[in-house]
Amino acid sequence: MIGSVCVFCGSNAGNDPRFAAAARSFGVLLAKEGIALVYGGGHVGLMGVVADAVLANGGKAIGVIPRALWDREVGHRNLTEIHIVETMHKRKAKMASLADAFVALPGGLGTLEEIFEVWTWAQLGIHHKPVGFLDVEGFYSLLLEFLDRAVDVGFVRPQFRSIAIVDTDPPALLRKLGEYEPPRIEKWITARET
Ligand code: AMP
Repeated sequence: MIGSVCVFCGSNAGNDPRFAAAARSFGVLLAKEGIALVYGGGHVGLMGVVADAVLANGGKAIGVIPRALWDREVGHRNLTEIHIVETMHKRKAKMASLADAFVALPGGLGTLEEIFEVWTWAQLGIHHKPVGFLDVEGFYSLLLEFLDRAVDVGFVRPQFRSIAIVDTDPPALLRKLGEYEPPRIEKWITARET
């Protein structure tokens, strides 16, 4: 049962209005399903869009933001809950601890770094929470194709590539996150060494 989803997404909105529309739908869906949003606490870009959609529909939006960003006034001032932390690393750890699942909406370097970190942690068995991508307008298709190539050439194990749940439709993505079964990886490091 998923009670909270950590959303990573752009601090920009992109130049296609369909990105913001998808972020809004995702936020509305979270609120309707009674699932709390955990996110980076900004009011800018898709981050602001998803948080505003959650709040406008009676949902719970929890921000985790480093003090430097809060002081630069990019923090959203009307969240249900705000955690102001000292560093980017503390932020990611806090976001991870508050969430039952992780989802990337379209975004830039920050979004990619954040989703890849939690995907890597899933691979290592540091957590057993689902990791998903909302593939709006094919935004993530080339990246996921590249990862298939990384599997083909032996840098990523197929079972770890398939941790990532991808869908274009917010309700379908949420349903799949709820059905996620983590891979059995207890012996991962030993198996590689032998
Ligand atoms: P990017 O994809 O490069 O736009 O970065 C977005 C991600 O980085 C978000 O998921 C946030 O966690 C973090 N981030 C970047 N810029 C901001 C900001 N202005 N306010 C809050 N968080 C931000």
